[in-house]
Amino acid sequence: MLTNQQLKKLKALLMAELKEIEERNREKVNDLENENDSETFHGDEADQATFLEQRNRILRLRDRDRKLANKIQETIQKMENGTYGICESCGCDIAFARLKLRPVASLCIECKQEEEEREERDKIFKRR
Ligand SMILES: [Zn+2]
Repeated sequence: MLTNQQLKKLKALLMAELKEIEERNREKVNDLENENDSETFHGDEADQATFLEQRNRILRLRDRDRKLANKIQETIQKMENGTYGICESCGCDIAFARLKLRPVASLCIECKQEEEEREERDKIFKRR
C-alpha cells in the first residue's frame, strides 16, 4: 500500500505532466494556425510537402498527448476513489519505485512484462 505522502508526491507528478501537455499543445496549435495564415500553400510543391508533413507530425503528437492526458485524468480519478496503485490484471500492489518512474502505470511490472511479450509475439505473428 502507498502512504499518503507517496500518493501526494505521485499526484503532484501527474498534475505537472498534465500541465506540461496542455501548454505544449497550446503552443503547437498556435504554430499551426500561424502557418495556415502564411503563404505556405502558395509556395512550390516541396514547401507544401514540408508543410503537410509538419502538420501531420503535429497532429500525431497531439493525438498521443490527448491519449496521455486522458490516461493521467483517469489515474487522478483512481487516486481519488482509492483504487490507485493496484495492478489491473493481478490485483497486487504496484511498487512505489515503478510508480515514481511511471505514475500512470496500471499494471505491476510482472504483468507489464507479460503484456509486452504478448504484444511482441503478436507483432511477429502479424509480420508473417
Ligand atoms: Zn500484476
